Amino acid sequence: MAWTRFGKKKDMPGGLWIKCEACGSMLFRKEFESKHRVCGSCGYHFTLPARERIELTADPGTFDELFLKLEAEDKLHFVDRVPYAKKLKATQKKTGEKDACVTGTCEIKGHPVVLAVMNFAFMGGSMGAVVGEKVALAVETGIERDLPVILISCSGGARMHEGPISLMQMAKTCAALSKLNDRGGFSISLMTHPTTGGVTASFASVCDVLLAEPGALIGFAGPRVIATTIKKELPKGFQRSEFLLERGQIDRIVTRDRMRDELARLVAYARGLDPVAAYGPWEPKPPAPEAPPKRARGVIKRKAAAEE
Ligand SMILES: [Zn+2]
Repeated sequence: MAWTRFGKKKDMPGGLWIKCEACGSMLFRKEFESKHRVCGSCGYHFTLPARERIELTADPGTFDELFLKLEAEDKLHFVDRVPYAKKLKATQKKTGEKDACVTGTCEIKGHPVVLAVMNFAFMGGSMGAVVGEKVALAVETGIERDLPVILISCSGGARMHEGPISLMQMAKTCAALSKLNDRGGFSISLMTHPTTGGVTASFASVCDVLLAEPGALIGFAGPRVIATTIKKELPKGFQRSEFLLERGQIDRIVTRDRMRDELARLVAYARGLDPVAAYGPWEPKPPAPEAPPKRARGVIKRKAAAEE
């Protein structure tokens, strides 16, 4: 697989065809989307928007979104090319999201969990106060409700527009995970392309099990920055999931089509249930039978009372 750096926008929305960032193949958009944005020729895993990730991971109709009202504040009155406050509003309008993380509870093949999924489309999935708070709250929900926590990362790192406030999120998220660990909770970190900067250097790396998608760029500083700093050529595949698996930084690489099964298996294992059964086929539970109308029950009760 030819490695490309992330950030190249060759995926043109609205077009019938998409060019693969890794192998250059032309992919028919419908087929590409039916494969959940994985290249049919080389298996390259494109970045998946948060909502699509949730749809792919959670059992249908089980996702219950939490903390959706949290919104970032421009405490530093930061001005880049565009003032941060203005940029936030524009990104919210463009993406329809309040910030770069979606949190909630759901079931995965019938196993209840807490999910926090980062959205790269929102300012590169950068971690500011809202992302940090939502990840910490998701972990605390896991503690309160005694549920496993799954954190799915896709991020350029800390959000520079929030300066030291964004750096504080690293400590906050790790403190929450440490508390979960002390209480005997279970956490899984899934790192997807790309997971870099302060996200790799905090919550994404300190969960109980660290999973990654194939070919994902995972690191702190980018490879170009490192190469120019140390003035050395970097080894092939540097900072990719396969490279990190070989060196023990991550536990397992899982393809997108098997991810739901793998998460269900790990969660079942952590809950003391049968992990092998959890990996196999799964049928959704039939809907619960509807309760009889309240009035009818009242009538029966009154009738019974009258008979006594
Ligand atoms: Zn490809």
